[in-house]
Amino acid sequence: MIYVKNCIAGEAAVINERYVREITEKCATERGGTFAGKCSFHVGGEIALCVIAKSAEELIFAVEKAEEYCEKYVVLGNMTNILPPDALYDGTVIVTSQMCNITAGNDRFKADAGFSLTKLSVLARDAGLSGLEFAYGIPGSVGGAIYMNAGAYGGNMADIVTEVTAYSPKEKRIKVYSNAGCGFGYRESVFKSNGEIIISAEMKLTPEDAERISSDCERNMAARREKQPLDKPSAGSTFRRPEGYYAGALIEQAGLKGFSIGGASVSEKHAGFVINAGGASSADISMLISEIKKRVYEFSGVMLEEEIIYIK
Ligand SMILES: Cc1cc2nc3c(=O)[nH]c(=O)nc-3n(C[C@H](O)[C@H](O)[C@H](O)COP(=O)(O)OP(=O)(O)OC[C@H]3O[C@@H](n4cnc5c(N)ncnc54)[C@H](O)[C@@H]3O)c2cc1C
Repeated sequence: MIYVKNCIAGEAAVINERYVREITEKCATERGGTFAGKCSFHVGGEIALCVIAKSAEELIFAVEKAEEYCEKYVVLGNMTNILPPDALYDGTVIVTSQMCNITAGNDRFKADAGFSLTKLSVLARDAGLSGLEFAYGIPGSVGGAIYMNAGAYGGNMADIVTEVTAYSPKEKRIKVYSNAGCGFGYRESVFKSNGEIIISAEMKLTPEDAERISSDCERNMAARREKQPLDKPSAGSTFRRPEGYYAGALIEQAGLKGFSIGGASVSEKHAGFVINAGGASSADISMLISEIKKRVYEFSGVMLEEEIIYIK
C-alpha cells in the first residue's frame, strides 16, 4: 500500500499523518520541537515527530509503527553524545528519557534504558555498592551508555553489565544478551552495528565501604569540574582516544586550542572538547571537527575519529 505523506512544516517536512495518528493514540508525542532544545550541544533543527516512550511496551510499539510505515527513526536517550542536523529531521525521534523504572536486589540493579546514569551512580553510592563511581557526572542514560560503552576514570559499562534486554526490529522479538554477547570494546558495543533497541539492563556491583565510594565519586566530579568545560554546551569528548595518544593533547599540540569556526570552538579548558561557544550551528561544529582532523593529521600523522554520533 502506498501512503501519501503530508507536509507538516516547510517544503521538506514530510511525515505520514495516519502513522502520526496511530502512534499518538498510544504514546506521548511532540511536533515542532527542535534538537536545539533537547541535545547537549544546543544545536539542531526541527524534529518532524518526537515520541516520548514511557515503558518498554511504548518503545517497542513506536519502533514497530515506524517500521510498519517505513518511516525513518532513531532511538535516543539524553542526547548527550550526538550531533543532529541543522535541517529538519524528517523522521521520528523516539526518546527513552522517561522510561525510568528500576529494581534493586542485593548487589544488582535492573534499570530501564532511560534511567539516568548519574542517578544510578548515586543510588549505588548510597547503597554502598561500588562499580559506578566512574559514571558519576556522565549525563547520559543507561541505554546510551551501553550503546557507547561509556566510561571514565578507569571504569566502563562493560565492567558492570551482566545482561541487556533488547528489541530486534529485524527479528521482531525481544532478545537477552549476556555481557560477552554485548561485544563491548573501547566505546563499542554490538548495538552500534545490529540496529537493536536497548530496553533495559542488569548491572552487578560490589558491596564496599560507602565513604570510600562517595569520596571516589566526589574526586571524579572534581576532576571533571577542573578539566572540562562543563559551563558550555558540548557532547563531552568529541573524539575517540587514538591508540597511544590523547586526542586533546594532539589538538593542543597542533595549536588548535581556542580555534573557532562560527560559534563552534575548541575549548580553551580541554582541547578534546568541541563546544558551542554561543550561537553555533551544527554545520559550524561539523566543519570545525573536519578542520581539526585535517590539521591534526598534517601535524602528527594521526587521523582522529569522532566519538560523537551524527544524526542524519
Ligand atoms: C559534559 C559531558 C561529559 C561527558 N562525559 C563522558 C564520559 O566521561 N565518558 C563517556 O563515555 N561519555 C561521556 N559523555 C558522552 C555521553 O554522555 C555518553 O556517551 C552517554 O552514555 C550517552 O548517553 P545518552 O543517553 O545521552 O545517548 P544519546 O546521545 O541519546 O545517544 C547516543 C547513541 O546511543 C544510541 N542509543 C541511545 N539509547 C539507545 C537505546 N535505548 N537503544 C539503542 N540505541 C540507543 C543513540 O541512537 C545514539 O546513536 C559526556 C557528555 C557530556 C555532554
